Amino acid sequence: MTEHAPQNAIPRIPLNSGYDIPQLGYGVFKVDPAQTEKLVSEALEVGYRHIDTAAIYGNEEGVGRAIAASGIPRKELFITTKLWNDRQAGDDPRRALEESLTKLGLEHVDLYLVHWPAPANGNYINAWTQLITLNEAGLSRSIGVSNHLVEHLEKIVAETDTLPAVNQIELHPAHQQREVAEWCRSRGVHIEAWGPLGQGKYDLFGTPAIRDAASAHGRTPAQVVLRWHLQTGNIVFPKTTSRDRMVENIRLFDFELSDAEIDAITALDPGDGSGRVGAHPSELN
Ligand code: NDP
Repeated sequence: MTEHAPQNAIPRIPLNSGYDIPQLGYGVFKVDPAQTEKLVSEALEVGYRHIDTAAIYGNEEGVGRAIAASGIPRKELFITTKLWNDRQAGDDPRRALEESLTKLGLEHVDLYLVHWPAPANGNYINAWTQLITLNEAGLSRSIGVSNHLVEHLEKIVAETDTLPAVNQIELHPAHQQREVAEWCRSRGVHIEAWGPLGQGKYDLFGTPAIRDAASAHGRTPAQVVLRWHLQTGNIVFPKTTSRDRMVENIRLFDFELSDAEIDAITALDPGDGSGRVGAHPSELN
């Protein structure tokens, strides 16, 4: 249905909810609300069907308008949004999700996430419990968390006996969060890698392992990094405001990195947390 990536080329990953998720999508963090409808419409035109937004991004209405204008059947779309930190207490998560659904023009989201544990507020276990209730009420198809470290995951699971479908964490070659990623993978909790291109904050693309693979395959460094994510099992939704880059970032299904190329990129994390480009999950509240 698109010249850039046939829908059946994007793998769908089964989640513990019984639903599945397209492994590649389009993220709208820092997309100007005034530009969101246009950019999401372009993303849908070039073949994306999975959109990652959040209440705090302030652009859910634009996502909703693009969905409505697209005419794409609801069941072909996968829409994620997230509960912000100041809505975790009591039964406020229900009101927050209802507000998001109104802005998105949807009756349910495909995935609803607790955005950060915000541990100083002491509400993330309540937030997770509320998400389980909202899921049972049909307001989301799947539920998960974001930016949760092992200590947060162990607490929510001990309290509710319910594993999240995904944990959306900062993950790119220089910051692979191996401890939490391994905890999740060994329990069937899928990793969604935010900042898959390091948010453009360091010279990811100048790295020889990435540059060499790019030239060996005749691809761009961004395509190599995104392909590394896909081949290592991560779900990704790179953000760009450029239509050309939307096309570049979806053209990932007609080449494959070798095991040696994957290993060379996997070896890029110094392992000391110095590659982190976003906030530390224990510190953002
Ligand atoms: P990304 O790693 O996707 O990087 C985005 C940056 O890379 C932008 O500056 C963009 O520039 C640039 N870029 C995109 N494509 C290319 C390309 N092909 N070549 C060169 N540069 C490129 O960072 P994000 O933080 O946006 O992460 C992706 C998504 O993850 C977000 O949009 C959001 O949905 C989610 N997220 C979730 C968080 C959470 O706490 N749960 C936190 C942060 C993000 P340009 O726009 O100019 O093309």
